[in-house]
Amino acid sequence: MTPLIRLDNLTVAYNRHPAVHHVSGAFASGSLTAIAGPNGAGKSTLLKAIMGELRPAEGRVEHRLGRAEFGYLPQAAEIDRRFPISVIDTVMLGAWKKTGAFGRIVPGEVKRAGEALSAVGLEGFGRRHVGSLSAGQFQRVLFARLLLQDAGIILLDEPFTAIDARTTRDLVDIVTRWHGEGRTV
Ligand code: ADP
Ligand code: MG
Repeated sequence: MTPLIRLDNLTVAYNRHPAVHHVSGAFASGSLTAIAGPNGAGKSTLLKAIMGELRPAEGRVEHRLGRAEFGYLPQAAEIDRRFPISVIDTVMLGAWKKTGAFGRIVPGEVKRAGEALSAVGLEGFGRRHVGSLSAGQFQRVLFARLLLQDAGIILLDEPFTAIDARTTRDLVDIVTRWHGEGRTV
């Protein structure tokens, strides 16, 4: 079978210091893969290289996917929650692929965003400021955004770090459902 994503001797560097060293491998369409390693091992760097946000210093990432085909959960530490934005608007960012960054948000998307919030157990939280949420609640918001985006390939960077057990269980259920739907996670 042809893999969806192939890594061929991939090296990614910051200012010539390699963070990912000569990695080769493949991800099949519909597969569910965990990438494990200590802090600084290069996991986040690898995900960014797969999406095309970082260029290889050596080797290649092979796929025929556009950036918009990837649903991406950034590592929590990389998100600034002081930005004054509501929960519902954060979820709506998942609809950008369909509306375009400067496109109009159609009423149907507002309804779908509300449904996505319900699906992650945050019904009624839409007007809250993201800065007022707990770490677990905020991670649920980001999962709601991914639900709305409805991407075929989903990259999650440390989805269960600093999250309580109940939230982890709920979010694992969503990941399992995505896998069951044939998405590549
Ligand atoms: P992980 O996600 O596994 O903790 P990272 O991919 O974040 O690892 O980091 C891998 C290495 O690259 C680390 O040594 C880190 O310090 C370095 N690094 C990560 N991001 C940058 C950056 N923006 N500029 C310079 N070095 C970076
Ligand atoms: Mg990381």
